[in-house]
Amino acid sequence: MGSAGLAEKCVSIVSWNDMHGQLGPDESYVQTGKLPAGGVVAVADVVADVRATHDATVVLDAGDLFTGPLETTLAEGEPIIAAYNVLGVDAAALGNHEFDFGPVGYGAVIAAPGLDDRAGDKGPRGALLARLAAARFPFLSANLHREGGGAIAWPHHSPSTTVERDGFKVGVVGYTTLETPKTTIKPNVVGLDFATNAGGSIAASIRLLRTQGASPVVLLAHASLEGELPQALDKAAGKGEIDTLLGELGPDLPDLVIAGHRHAWLLGRARGVPIVSTSEHGVGVARSRFCVDPATKKVALASIERRIAVAHDPPRSALGKDVAAVVAPFQAKVAAEAETSVATLAKACFPQRLDGSAFTHAVAVAIREHATDGGALPEKVPVVAVMNSGGVRAPLGPSVVRYRDLFAALPFENAVATCTTTRAGLAKMLSNVLRKASVAERFPFGFAGARLALKRDAKGLLTLEKLTVPGADAETDKVVVAMPDFLLWGGDGFLDGVTCSATTSSQTRLRDAFRTLLARDKTCDGPHPDLTIEVKP
Ligand SMILES: [Zn+2]
Repeated sequence: MGSAGLAEKCVSIVSWNDMHGQLGPDESYVQTGKLPAGGVVAVADVVADVRATHDATVVLDAGDLFTGPLETTLAEGEPIIAAYNVLGVDAAALGNHEFDFGPVGYGAVIAAPGLDDRAGDKGPRGALLARLAAARFPFLSANLHREGGGAIAWPHHSPSTTVERDGFKVGVVGYTTLETPKTTIKPNVVGLDFATNAGGSIAASIRLLRTQGASPVVLLAHASLEGELPQALDKAAGKGEIDTLLGELGPDLPDLVIAGHRHAWLLGRARGVPIVSTSEHGVGVARSRFCVDPATKKVALASIERRIAVAHDPPRSALGKDVAAVVAPFQAKVAAEAETSVATLAKACFPQRLDGSAFTHAVAVAIREHATDGGALPEKVPVVAVMNSGGVRAPLGPSVVRYRDLFAALPFENAVATCTTTRAGLAKMLSNVLRKASVAERFPFGFAGARLALKRDAKGLLTLEKLTVPGADAETDKVVVAMPDFLLWGGDGFLDGVTCSATTSSQTRLRDAFRTLLARDKTCDGPHPDLTIEVKP
């Protein structure tokens, strides 16, 4: 604490992660009866509080700014950039979901094959490049290169940056999760390499910042740790991507890791380095305070505190009001579309159920009905559709379901895709997912165009007993599998060890296919209709 008569000189680093397009408060907090919290306006109030102290203030976002509510996703992330420019964000890590939007325009899911960044708006990063150009802060990723090692050369992208403020030089190095190709739309990262010499690139950036006199040096990482997370600074954190990365840095460790990607509260030490992350959607904000030791003149960590960004209407601060004003036109522009009623449901639809759900089945039916959207399919071959439960994130209903609710239930930008395999190939795909331990908590997919009989053992694990596909009786009979493109590109290990050829991919998003179905059928509640699970003690 400050010595008598002399104000201590400190810098406060305000940070959050996984904002995911949240402008107003996070609805789940309202629905659970807790205080409304989160969103860029609530975060602005917290930033204003910290700036009102005597501390120098640096504002950092650990990535996944985009993909979430309708207001931001229809505008492909534009309102978040507008908000952050007013907020005075100093740097953001480049997260996996930054790549979700593909070419410019909500209607375009992926670019035409063969296009690269030279195609601009029409290229695989058209929307991202437009957002980067408009940002008044850099997006950081030191482990992102072109395949073959070339530099990225995008506007406002950099491996690292130095924020100079009130005599402090805060160095910030960005890191993007190695899972990125599997956790965004894969064609949108064509030609990019996140993995080669990732640790070496981070270490070199940290070393460079130190030689330039930066202190503290922060690793702003869109990645996290696994397992149970510590919640106090004196607690050691476990394994996971950040732990592996720090292990590769040798002596070039940062002074602080601001983590993200797991949407989780975290405070602890990974290999001795303080690490923090705060929930999601701007619900949580961290303040990491570094102060100059009056004796040694060295900069050292003084404290890390985390708090909930409670949403106030009107906002508490002038900054909050300014941010609210800049996002308001985006909200107003799509308000009518957002509030459009899709259907009125008598009962609520829950996606995550132990024995499968009619909700994931209904999404699979919608996928099956749009199976030819990406091109013609082989004639007289049965079509089976599969929907991964992890892609359905919120319940719907009861009563009116608005278009905005479909963005909460189906938040990802995935579209309908197909490939052709055999009945045995389909059985292998389903078994790939059924062998996961998580089946003891939720059934991993919905499906349409087939019937499944399974056995559950005493541990809750499942085995496939019988797969019935009308029109494909023999193991070698052909089956078209329609699915979210996420699965086609390797998500959930669904296609591991299976030959599935003649792929098609469409520009039909799952949520828009499902919108048509729900408007017609007006129901998605209850158990999965084509699934029987026999419990064997
Ligand atoms: Zn992420």
